[in-house]
Amino acid sequence: MLESPGPTLRLVILLLSTILAPTLALSETDLSVASETLWILGAQRVDVDLGDSSQEVDVALRGDRIVAVLQAGLIQPPKGAAVVDGTGLWLAPGAFDSHVHVSSTPALLSQDTPELRALETAYRNQAGRSFLLHGFTQVVDLNHRDEGSIAWFRENGPAPDLLHVGTALTMAGGYPLNWVPEDERWSYSNYLLDPLHPVPNQPAGVDPTQHTPEATVARVESSGGVAVKLFWEKGFGGFSNLPTPSRPLLEQVVATAHQRGLPVVVHANSFEAWDFVTQSPIDALVHGMWNWDQHRGSAGLPAEISQVVDRAIDREIALMPTTRVLGGLRDLFDPTFLSDPRLAEVYPPAFLDYLQAGGGGGLRDEIRREDFDDSPDDAMIRRQMEAGRGQGDRVLQAFVARGGNFVFGSDTPSGPFYTNPPGLNGRLELQHLATLGIDPLAIARALTLAPAKLFGVAHEYGEVAVGRKANLLLLRSDPLQSALAWGEIERVIVSGTVLQPVDLAAAR
Ligand SMILES: [Zn+2]
Repeated sequence: MLESPGPTLRLVILLLSTILAPTLALSETDLSVASETLWILGAQRVDVDLGDSSQEVDVALRGDRIVAVLQAGLIQPPKGAAVVDGTGLWLAPGAFDSHVHVSSTPALLSQDTPELRALETAYRNQAGRSFLLHGFTQVVDLNHRDEGSIAWFRENGPAPDLLHVGTALTMAGGYPLNWVPEDERWSYSNYLLDPLHPVPNQPAGVDPTQHTPEATVARVESSGGVAVKLFWEKGFGGFSNLPTPSRPLLEQVVATAHQRGLPVVVHANSFEAWDFVTQSPIDALVHGMWNWDQHRGSAGLPAEISQVVDRAIDREIALMPTTRVLGGLRDLFDPTFLSDPRLAEVYPPAFLDYLQAGGGGGLRDEIRREDFDDSPDDAMIRRQMEAGRGQGDRVLQAFVARGGNFVFGSDTPSGPFYTNPPGLNGRLELQHLATLGIDPLAIARALTLAPAKLFGVAHEYGEVAVGRKANLLLLRSDPLQSALAWGEIERVIVSGTVLQPVDLAAAR
């Protein structure tokens, strides 16, 4: 059993409160009423705000909160307190993956048979653990299919804390409704009707007052969304010239969302899309700019693209690069991908068996047929995907070098692709970012404080500080020296529960 601190300890704590910086302070009541406190002793605290990891601290957790952050060794934990030895380890805020879709099951386009339904259940039972295994203690769902999947994810722990944007705003007939059969599109709740651009085949009975900026944003808010997501996408994969929000409509959505205190995050991945949406006061671009339109194949960074990058930075628009969209598409054409041993940790055995036996390949064949003339040349297709990703990478490098606000998100899964596995996809995103020479401190902020601020939850997440949620990582090396340290996880702590990676792996 744990004990409350005695009078002497309380006095010491009070004294410390007055001599230490506010983040190191601790009020007397915090521990005097403690019935259950867990101490992490002697770890190096990773301060992503100051960019400092030199401070050795003792940290106390009670319930799901951090209740004390003290200079190491100043006080003894209460007799009998649960203790985790953090000596030689780095204590970092838990990481965000700020672009996931928990209602999408990769590879299973149809769950029409009992076998496929069983695979989907197995996948979903493991997904939360897979995110945690790779250090993602918070995920942000950027458009979900149904509210049931949000509740399901939360109830089937251990799982990361899940923030979401409700159902994203799409244009009637616009992306991504183009993938939905025509007779089903109009049953989608949160589409916008643009008075400037009426849709030709709008069925009778549609109530336009339910599809205004006000009505769609209100739906996001009432579903508990932390941001409003909007698509600006003319189409790909055989679609083009899909309707996109006009300037007045976009500005009305932004104004309505901001009145309600919600940031606006926009799906935009082309030069044209970035050029358009960065002229309005949006808050974040949730994809990199890998489609360069008329500048496709240009060397370096074309001046027009460079200007759009500068505009995004001037207007404090954040960038979530999601390099794993094209990375995942590339990997679909890499036969070695399915022999990566890390897949067995994040996919349940039956699900991985299904993939390795060729399941889930239908979409790959479709892309090969539609976009590559049915070419059997995997290496050529991989090179094309890599060239697109390289364009997005150059934009990201310029954005970060010029001081832009970069937020980490992997887009898991970006489509029904088995090459965007939960947790591992974020790890692959991180590894790719590290190869681009981005400063580890910029990556550390992108994983923690930057998303916490973007989504208005910096009082809960992003720092190892008193009052924050006890979502933490104990790492074996310093993430401010190398971003790869985020993958060297000794313990994952979520809502105050200490977990070992091995216990989160699928094959158990
Ligand atoms: Zn997405």
